[in-house]
Amino acid sequence: MHRRDYLKLQSLGLAAVVIPQFDGDLTRRFSVERLMGIESTKLFGQENTQLSRRAYKAFNRMKMAAWNDGILIKTVSSYRSYRDQKRIFERKFNAFTKEGDTGQQAIERIIEYSTIPGTSRHHWATDIDIIQAAKPIEGDSLLAEHFAPQGAFFELKEWVDANASDFDFYLVYTNNPNRKGFKYEPWHLSYAPESVPLLKNYLKKEVIKLAYTQQVEGFSFLTPERIERYLDEHVLGINEALLP
Ligand SMILES: [Zn+2]
Repeated sequence: MHRRDYLKLQSLGLAAVVIPQFDGDLTRRFSVERLMGIESTKLFGQENTQLSRRAYKAFNRMKMAAWNDGILIKTVSSYRSYRDQKRIFERKFNAFTKEGDTGQQAIERIIEYSTIPGTSRHHWATDIDIIQAAKPIEGDSLLAEHFAPQGAFFELKEWVDANASDFDFYLVYTNNPNRKGFKYEPWHLSYAPESVPLLKNYLKKEVIKLAYTQQVEGFSFLTPERIERYLDEHVLGINEALLP
């Protein structure tokens, strides 16, 4: 079944027992360096819009379609390297422990929204965080409240819900109450034809174990059990349309 048909059935409540079939090439192989963001595929686009060639093309088509409907998409973040993610993680770890958190508490707080370096989907050049341009807001733009009915980006949220899958982009961290892991992120989209095979490789190669053994501040507070749960809840706690 085509995944679009599946999602239509799902929205009608009819697809509970149907397993989504991925249309892309699930036999593609990716290096561990690519999966961990240590090495990137060739990036297309500039500044906040840096994606793989195919994802970039699809994103531009989607952006143009949104523009035709009067919605201006603005990109906040796309490809992020391992080094970038490590910097983010360590900065937060230091800030939170300075505020009095124990190492464990700091890690739990970090992984509400940020990933453990080497496990971010942003490492893959397939995922992108978007907001609506020309909608001034104060402070942090990546907050779920801006995408709620009274929020500045609600129009964008509705457009994404209705149209993004036509361009093979899917929300990763949905507001499904049964989902664990990262909180609801109405801004984070993933280009499925590439990110699904990437996730398949990621799991097969057990990249998470490699990520966990890197030298990163705060990692001494991570236990193998916690990493196992992180894999289940954070890495796999995603929109099921994006599972291999
Ligand atoms: Zn994101």
